[in-house]
Amino acid sequence: MALPPTFTPTRQAALARLEAYLPAAGRYGAERNFVRPGHDNVSRLSPWLQKRLIREEEVVAAVRARWSFEAVEKFVQEVHWRTYWKGWLEQRPAAWTRWQAAVPRRRDGLAGERRADWEAAREGRTGIDGFDDWARELVATGYLHNHARMWFASIWVFTLRLPWELGADFFHTHLLDADVASNTLSWRWVAGLQTAGKTYLARADNIAKYTDGRHRPAAHRLATEALALSEEPLPKVAAWVPAPAAAERGRAGLWLHPEDLSAEIGELADARIEAINAIWPAGMAREVGWAPAVEAWTRAALGDGAERAGRRFGAPVAAGETSDVAEAVAEWARVAGLDTVIAYRPFVGPWLAKGLAVEAALARVGVRMEWRRRAWDATHFPHATRGYFPFWERIRSAG
Ligand SMILES: Cc1cc2nc3c(=O)[nH]c(=O)nc-3n(C[C@H](O)[C@H](O)[C@H](O)COP(=O)(O)OP(=O)(O)OC[C@H]3O[C@@H](n4cnc5c(N)ncnc54)[C@H](O)[C@@H]3O)c2cc1C
Repeated sequence: MALPPTFTPTRQAALARLEAYLPAAGRYGAERNFVRPGHDNVSRLSPWLQKRLIREEEVVAAVRARWSFEAVEKFVQEVHWRTYWKGWLEQRPAAWTRWQAAVPRRRDGLAGERRADWEAAREGRTGIDGFDDWARELVATGYLHNHARMWFASIWVFTLRLPWELGADFFHTHLLDADVASNTLSWRWVAGLQTAGKTYLARADNIAKYTDGRHRPAAHRLATEALALSEEPLPKVAAWVPAPAAAERGRAGLWLHPEDLSAEIGELADARIEAINAIWPAGMAREVGWAPAVEAWTRAALGDGAERAGRRFGAPVAAGETSDVAEAVAEWARVAGLDTVIAYRPFVGPWLAKGLAVEAALARVGVRMEWRRRAWDATHFPHATRGYFPFWERIRSAG
């Protein structure tokens, strides 16, 4: 098994990892597909990026400052994959709600031998070399290399013939970077739902090559064809766009959630904030299905973000946990005498559901919610309408 990479849930640790990775970033294009113990040939920044303990634009700026664009183009492109998936899901949120609804149905639908296969897959007891190691690595470390994620998903769907939704659920339970957009849409891509008819088939020789021979699954154990799954087309909606910032906010507070934990940097850095709320919704991990390690990591990251925001804005931070985050934020806003609560709008997924409940509860006590969106997202998301490459070409040509 690979050595567990360490992921301390702070911005400081993210910056340190970025700094340590910069000398290797210029070799990313040539080396990124190798899955090696410790994973030093890739950035391992995803858990921090997913919480925005560090922001995409900082990472891109740092590699471009150190290397020529040609040397790091592939890396920059991969960072934009995250943006692309998020922008795409904003416009087709049904990909998330369908997956979410399917998970309990698929789970209940597994009986007898199929249920035993599903359990063996999650516990790394299939006997397929590589696959079993990745299942255990994921649970032990909260991280998997991208190529291992692709092989794992392909074997899950086409060799073990398990429902893709349950594979996505297994990843979403254990990944520290668990992201509704990147995870759900990548599983859909492997299964042939994302790019109609195009699937990803894991091959034994490819696994042996890119694991430097550490894993050599027997070729006859792996599926030799990958038939694409099909579905009803997903409805497309217009992505949410921010209203202009209010000219007069009155007394403003900040609601902090784990999808943007750098509130003190960028768009809101100069806002006048009287109070900060970073309260943790007690039932969230159970609702979403996170493993205890993912919950603990996310919660600690929220604490780190709140501490920095508190320092920057010179405002008191309400923390702790609550069974009803919407009512708790509304009561906090009322007691603090706030007119407006500002927040970065969460992306499609469980935090958006919480955010919309917070907005409704605030309205009941006469407090306005002001949703913001980072310029990075607002400029990139509208282009995520078709495939990745037209999206990337627009970004690349814009410089
Ligand atoms: C089945 C499957 C499920 C996945 N689930 C997630 C998930 O829940 N959360 C998540 O952040 N990524 C997910 N990915 C994408 C990718 O595997 C991870 O982002 C990447 O492996 C993280 O490692 P790294 O930080 O070392 O990446 P690097 O290779 O160093 O890339 C730098 C950054 O670019 C972004 N990135 C790189 N590749 C991708 C990609 N293919 N898609 C989206 N963003 C990318 C990440 O933010 C990453 O931190 C999934 C991929 C697959 C195939």
